Amino acid sequence: MTFLELDKPVQFLKGVGPRRAESLARMGILTARDLLYHLPRRYDDASTITPLASAEVGMEVTVVGEIGSKGVIPTRRGLRIFQVVIRDDTGALTCSWPGQPWLDRELRVGDRILVTGPVRSFQGRQIQPREHALLDRRSSGRPDRVPPAPSHPRGGPDHPRGRTSHPPDRQAVAPNPAPGTIFVTYPASKEVPQWVLRRILAQNLEWLLRHAGKEDAIDPQERRGLGLPRLDAALAALHRPCSIDDVAPARRRLAYDELLLLQLLHARVRDHAIREIPGIAMVRTNRLVRALHDSLPFELTGAQVRVLREIYADMASPTRMNRLLQGDVGSGKTLVALFAMLLAVEGGHQAALMVPTSILAEQHAARIGELLRGLPCEEELLTGSAAPQRRRTALGRIASGDAQIVVGTHALIQEGVEFDSLGLAVIDEQQRFGVRQRLALGERDPAPDILAMSATPIPRSLAMAIHGDLDISQIDDLPPGRRPVATWVRSPEEREQVLDEVVRRLARGEQAFIVYPLIEESEKAELLAAEAEFERLRGGALAGHKIALVHGRVAAEDRERIMRDFVAGKVRALVATTVIEVGVDVAGATVMVIENAERFGLAQLHQLRGRVGRGERGGLCVAISEAAGRSRRLRAFARTTDGFEIAAEDLRIRGQGDFFGADQHGHGQRLRIADLVTDSDLVGPARARARAVVEADPRLERPEHQLLRRLMERRYRDRAKLFGVG
Ligand code: ADP
Ligand code: MG
Repeated sequence: MTFLELDKPVQFLKGVGPRRAESLARMGILTARDLLYHLPRRYDDASTITPLASAEVGMEVTVVGEIGSKGVIPTRRGLRIFQVVIRDDTGALTCSWPGQPWLDRELRVGDRILVTGPVRSFQGRQIQPREHALLDRRSSGRPDRVPPAPSHPRGGPDHPRGRTSHPPDRQAVAPNPAPGTIFVTYPASKEVPQWVLRRILAQNLEWLLRHAGKEDAIDPQERRGLGLPRLDAALAALHRPCSIDDVAPARRRLAYDELLLLQLLHARVRDHAIREIPGIAMVRTNRLVRALHDSLPFELTGAQVRVLREIYADMASPTRMNRLLQGDVGSGKTLVALFAMLLAVEGGHQAALMVPTSILAEQHAARIGELLRGLPCEEELLTGSAAPQRRRTALGRIASGDAQIVVGTHALIQEGVEFDSLGLAVIDEQQRFGVRQRLALGERDPAPDILAMSATPIPRSLAMAIHGDLDISQIDDLPPGRRPVATWVRSPEEREQVLDEVVRRLARGEQAFIVYPLIEESEKAELLAAEAEFERLRGGALAGHKIALVHGRVAAEDRERIMRDFVAGKVRALVATTVIEVGVDVAGATVMVIENAERFGLAQLHQLRGRVGRGERGGLCVAISEAAGRSRRLRAFARTTDGFEIAAEDLRIRGQGDFFGADQHGHGQRLRIADLVTDSDLVGPARARARAVVEADPRLERPEHQLLRRLMERRYRDRAKLFGVG
């Protein structure tokens, strides 16, 4: 196969000339395939369309009618209202768009439009459209020769077309809505309005579908196993459904295709990562792992034991480990990482732990140092702030292999850092690093095992969609006896009582965070708010306590000094915008107040809350918000402290876009069709299938995989390049 017909530039389709092609290109429609995959954004069943005569004041309606007259009406207050009167067989209705006089240029007398909105009483009945779509237009006074795209009477051509008969001239423009007719509305643009898209699609749909039939890359058995329709049938159902019920399964089919192609990309990236360079098969002696285990004053949790088994198995295998470890703050990831690092050291190699900030590196190094006390294992710290002499010594010890466990920041991947034999690279708070940085630590020969860690757990199906190239381990329990952080949601009127509680805790020797949101557009105003609030607290509620302010404009050294003072307990309350260092442990901090909490995402709130659950004393997190009683997000925040549950709810509230966006550094490939709430069950099968294909045929060269490879490259070309598998 050398050429896919649907790769043809859209310009060569019927009804599309060079000018139109340019406009379509600006919508991202370049090829015939792009046009075929330009799917309706909404479907209206004619049975839900209200005849104009029955649209009563107070109703929310969707109506269809032909524009009989139009005009722009000025009001005394300078507002200009665009109005049209539309008609159907039952009557007429005024549609009124206040403040949108430009619509006068968009809509013409004779146009047939679909309108959705509330019916109000204003000089008679009138509808104020929330949405409208131009369904059809008569060209230069002549009736259209092209029938409107999506009218398929449910019962086939002989189906009675409704109760009323149509005057012949109107019938020529378009049939009136009849039960069983589905109106589809496409995403349109100013340059390519709805009616044009509908016309182009109507003219070419048969041809497009015929060729789509040849691009069905899923074998029938797999397809039937998943209960999915054929590709051409699915696309036909999406462009001109016979019934609303056909839409969801059709969309699911396309969702599966999309997930499969994405997983193919991931599978190739993974294959590249684990097979290109030979890995290390760790030999386990148990010497150090056993010693650490015996020295712990507690038992590992069930989840810790399970993920360690997964990690040990990967490390013992000669192919490199490429694994993501997810778990809430405090779930014991660092301890798991330490066991893995000791396994590497036992096997005669070094291990590195890379973290995003210096303070965090120091904390990790100190804690690991304590845990290793008495064990024959040497540790080293490498950060950007190390003095030259200190740095030279550290580099020497790393190069000679004397330093067996190395904790550090980005400094670890800078020039001049040579390991004697790096066997395991652990990347903590992996979402804070770019893909390239993550890869950089592991770019050695032989290939060290890679363990990426995240304290922002997300549901497994979402994790598999975003990090398809990684295997996933999850710690979904907490060490026993850990008290969950108590969470209150309060309105601003209750701030005083909240501050009373803060003061009580300060008096008991505890420490507090007070957090302000910082959003980019109004950074200045927000800073002023934080600064003003800081002064108010210092002069009022928190007078007499040592408090400090940090925000993005505070110089890095000052910020670090203040953070250190807070960690050391010299500062008792920290007023901060969200620049608070992730992961930093302040054992004395037990209370956090989050102002304007509605500004934060659920995951972010949960991350912040994680800062105060670390000491023995019970933590308290108070979200203050105008929206206290109303916000679904804040209710969820107060209801659960389980990060996986938080993420699942976040996904339901916000949709998946933000999750893909949050990881902009390369995995940020957005899905266009698949929805990871409703299609989450398709991710696993797509991944399994993709991995099996790549396992058998890593470069997708076999004839039966050619089509998959081409489609994958069409869809994810840039990504594939980024990962070096394009
Ligand atoms: P994370 O890296 O996931 O935030 P850590 O590994 O830092 O979590 O663990 C948080 C705290 O819990 C540490 O003080 C650690 O020693 C302790 N801890 C870890 N595992 C257990 C366990 N199984 N039982 C009791 N305490 C544990
Ligand atoms: Mg951690």
